[in-house]
Amino acid sequence: MYKFCKKCDSIRSIDDFNKDKSKIDGLRDICKECRNSLRRANRKNNIHKFIEYENRPENRAKQRADRLKREYDISVEEYDKLFEKQKGVCKVERPRSVKTGRDGRRVPK
Ligand SMILES: [Zn+2]
Repeated sequence: MYKFCKKCDSIRSIDDFNKDKSKIDGLRDICKECRNSLRRANRKNNIHKFIEYENRPENRAKQRADRLKREYDISVEEYDKLFEKQKGVCKVERPRSVKTGRDGRRVPK
């Protein structure tokens, strides 16, 4: 089976397409290769948006809740109680590094 990729204008094996249940044929419009390069470009071009998004209070709160649940299997409420007990000394949570380049500079375009 073959499918036409809109992006690179070529006919490719359906193995080269990711699945997408929302599409009629169950496959994405563009091939894996195109999708990967798009994603890379997109992430690079929007790196500050990604960071901004991740740093929004509601997302941070959710990430924190998810992380507490995943790593320690406790809820935020339970964590806050523990935190109280330990008189504000946090024994569970480690500080989170800021998502910029490794040396702290902005990630170049
Ligand atoms: Zn393609």
